[in-house]
Amino acid sequence: MNDPTSLSGGDRAPDAASTLPAIAAASADAGPPRTTFADLGLSEPVLRAVADAGYLHPTPIQEQAIPVVLMGRDVLGCAQTGTGKTASFTLPMLDIMQSGRARARMPRALILEPTRELAAQVADNFVKYAKYLRFDYALIIGGESMADQIARLNRGVDVLIATPGRLIDLFERGGLLLTDVRVLVIDEADRMLDMGFIPDVERIVSLLPRMRQTLFFSATMPPEIKRLADAFLHNPRQITVAPPASVAPTVAQHLVVVREHDKREALRRLLRSEDVKNALVFCNRKRDVGVLHRSLLRHGFNAGMLHGDMPQPKRTETLERFKAEEIKILVCSDVAARGIDIGGLSHVFNFDVPMHAEDYVHRIGRTGRAGLSGRAFTLATVEDDEALAAIEKLIGRPIPRIQVEGLDPVSLDVLERRERTDRRRRRSPARPADASERPGRRPRERRPAEPAGKEPRAQGRTEPRIGASDHERGAEDKVVGFGGTVPDFMRLPTRRPTRSGR
Ligand code: AMP
Repeated sequence: MNDPTSLSGGDRAPDAASTLPAIAAASADAGPPRTTFADLGLSEPVLRAVADAGYLHPTPIQEQAIPVVLMGRDVLGCAQTGTGKTASFTLPMLDIMQSGRARARMPRALILEPTRELAAQVADNFVKYAKYLRFDYALIIGGESMADQIARLNRGVDVLIATPGRLIDLFERGGLLLTDVRVLVIDEADRMLDMGFIPDVERIVSLLPRMRQTLFFSATMPPEIKRLADAFLHNPRQITVAPPASVAPTVAQHLVVVREHDKREALRRLLRSEDVKNALVFCNRKRDVGVLHRSLLRHGFNAGMLHGDMPQPKRTETLERFKAEEIKILVCSDVAARGIDIGGLSHVFNFDVPMHAEDYVHRIGRTGRAGLSGRAFTLATVEDDEALAAIEKLIGRPIPRIQVEGLDPVSLDVLERRERTDRRRRRSPARPADASERPGRRPRERRPAEPAGKEPRAQGRTEPRIGASDHERGAEDKVVGFGGTVPDFMRLPTRRPTRSGR
C-alpha cells in the first residue's frame, strides 16, 4: 500500500522514513520552490505522519483540495485512483475532526466507497495518517460480522468508512444514527453508478443533516453523476486533475488478436515469455475469473483470484497474499480490483477487452506508476471490434498490435475491413442489406477472420512477435496500427456497448 505511484507532482523520499526537514531540504534543492504539505495548512501531527509516509510534495489533487477542505467548502473532484486522492480528503478530515469527540453510534464523518477493498484501503490510510492523533474509525462492509461492527459503533467512532448496502442494513437495525455527520465523502461515484448503488447513496444522503460538508469524487463525470453532484453539493470547488482518458506514457500497451479458443494459450505464452514480477489479469465476468484461475493453476502458474462473489475473508486474504508477493498472478473482475493500490505492478493483462472504454484506462493504469515501466497486454477476438474502436477513440491512438509466437495469426484488419464494407455499402445503397442487419444498427462483420497475409496490409502494420528481442520491441512500440494516422472510421460515432453481462 505504501508504494510509489504515478503521482504526477507527488514525490516520495527514497526512504519512507524521511522527516519534515528532509522534505524542506529536497524542496530547496529542486530549483523553483514547490509546495510542501506544510504550506497547505495541515496540523503538525498530520504533517509528521505524512513525512513518515515518505511523501515529499503534495500531488495536484492534494495541493488543490486540502486547503479547500480545511476551509469547510464542498469539493467536486474529478480524479482517478493513483492521483493521491485518498490523502486529499483523509488528511484534512483528520484535522477537521480533531476538535470534538464522537458519541456512541453517532459518527461525525462518513465515507462511502463502492467496494469492500476500497473501503479497507481508505481505513488503512486513516491508520497511517492518524498515527499521532487520537482517532477512531469503523469499517462497515458486507461479508464481516455485523455484531463486531455494532460493538465498535457503540464505543463511539469519529469516521465511518462504509459500503452503501451494509450501512443501510445497520441503520435499519437501529445500530446507527447519522444525525451527527458533519463531513460526507462520496468516493468513486461513477463506480457506484455502475454497480447500481445510487439509490442507496441517495437514501443515505437523505438521512444526513443538511448542514454538512460534502466531498464528492469520481473518475469520470457522465451526466448522471453531474446531476447527483448538483443535488448533493453546495457551491463546490471543482477540481479536475487528470483527464480520465489519459494513460501514463510509462505503460507499454499491446494488443493481441486471437481466436476465442486460443485466448488461454495466448495468455500462458505471454506469461511465460514476459518477465512478470506480478500481474493482474482482468476478465469481464465473474464466472470467467474462476474458470481462468483454475486453468492457470492446472498449468502450474502461481495464481489467485478475486471477484465480488467470494467471501470477504477470502478476498482480504488473497489480496494480502498478492501484495506480499506470495501470489504472482491475480485473476480478477473490475469491481473487485477497482482502485486497489498495488506497488510496482509489472504487468496488466486484459483477458477480455473491457466493455467500457474507461475501464481499459483504469485497468492498465495499475502498472507503470511512479515512473516505473509497466506492460499491458489486451487479448481480443474479432468480435471485440466495436469495444476496441471505443477504447482507441478514448485514448486517442491505436493500441500497437503484436502476435504471439506459435499461435495462428488472426487478421488485425477487421476494423478496416468493416470500414471498407461500410464504404462499399454507402456507395451502392440499392444493394440489399445483409440479412443480419437491423435498421439503425451498424452492420457487423461476420466473416471468419482471415489469417494474416491473405489480406493486403497497410504499410507499417507488421505485428511484432512476442518473444522478440528488446530491439524489435522498441520498434514495435512505434507501430501505431494505422501508420500513425487516424482513419476516418475511428471518428465515426460508436455505438456504446451495453452493460449487460458484466
Ligand atoms: P490514491 O490515488 O489515493 O489511491 O493514492 C495512490 C498512492 O499514492 C498510495 O499508495 C499513496 O500512499 C500514494 N501517495 C499519496 N500521496 C502521495 C504523495 N504526495 N507523494 C507520494 N505518494 C503519495
